[in-house]
Amino acid sequence: MNWLKSHRNDMLLVAALLVLGGALALFLYVTRETGGYVSVQIDGGAVTEFPIGDNVRVVLGTGEQTNTLVIEDGTARVVEASCPDQICVRQGAVRYAGESIVCLPHRLVITVEGGQRDDVDATVR
Ligand SMILES: [Zn+2]
Repeated sequence: MNWLKSHRNDMLLVAALLVLGGALALFLYVTRETGGYVSVQIDGGAVTEFPIGDNVRVVLGTGEQTNTLVIEDGTARVVEASCPDQICVRQGAVRYAGESIVCLPHRLVITVEGGQRDDVDATVR
């Protein structure tokens, strides 16, 4: 009888931890912020921004150094690039705030920024 009692408490504890862990994972999942827009910077120059909700296909860069950026279905990816390593192409799509695609040979940085530009205050409140 005593054995059952003490082990029942252990099982309750394990069950509670499982529920807590699941709730935490769910919380992190639903609060993960999808991007509001995509910022592009080439060689430390001016930043160009595209709303991530748009469908855009744009060739970035000049001359021989180009990266083709495609934004669709709320994701951004480099579909084509003239760089030798092709890491930016292989990286695939990004969609969450803080994620970025970097093309080192072209010094190109594509970053997903969170929220809407006009809604900056809303996230602070
Ligand atoms: Zn590249």
